[in-house]
Amino acid sequence: MKNKIITIDGPAGSGKSTIAKLLAKKLGLIYIDTGSMYRTLTLLALENNIDLNDEESILRIAKKSDLKFDNNVADESRYTKVLLNGRDISLDIRSKKVGEAVSIVSKLSGVRKYLVELQKKMASNNPSVLEGRDTGSVVCPDAICKIYLTANIEERVKRREKQLCENNQSSLKEQIKCEIENRDKIDSSRNDSPLIIPDGSTVIDTTRMTIEEEFNLIKNIYHEKIKET
Ligand code: C5P
Repeated sequence: MKNKIITIDGPAGSGKSTIAKLLAKKLGLIYIDTGSMYRTLTLLALENNIDLNDEESILRIAKKSDLKFDNNVADESRYTKVLLNGRDISLDIRSKKVGEAVSIVSKLSGVRKYLVELQKKMASNNPSVLEGRDTGSVVCPDAICKIYLTANIEERVKRREKQLCENNQSSLKEQIKCEIENRDKIDSSRNDSPLIIPDGSTVIDTTRMTIEEEFNLIKNIYHEKIKET
């Protein structure tokens, strides 16, 4: 079978989740939200008072926990449903507290190795779309269609504000900007699998694009690539 995988990487608020879910729904692909996995391990650390740099303890508790990631995109507006020992933590992993801490936990090499293995396994049997910070560079470097999304900071702040609002949370624009910039800085400068433009990827600036334009562009690239192989 041809490698029917799309990877979508990019900084915070660049619109990865929205387009990844739409692509999954319309093209019949499995949706893999890698960020939700890093967020889950971060929540586990916070709730168990584990130091965010204590890789061994975070991994120990993660391996002991029953984690389920349900990426059904029938309702594309909803977040990835995550169950931790049967408890729905889908919204907890989107809290401000987790958002501020997640880049610290995702720097840990052991955590990355553990989650990348899981992600590779999830993508191995089915045509999939993966979104994150290293999906085209590390998780699926051989993906047939690799996209790197970007947008200017004002637009990214606006999108995050809307997301928080939908989640019944709020934050000052300045605070959101600070959190995004801080997260981007840590994600791009870490030693292990930093956020980069993966080799062979198409860079798309979505600042002034509608979601339909974005969808059509990526769909065409994907179909072209499949034809070429
Ligand atoms: O995409 P999302 O905002 O849910 O990602 C949360 C955080 O998880 C990112 O800021 C980054 O620190 C980490 N992450 C990562 N590698 C991925 C996906 C997410 O390091 N593939």
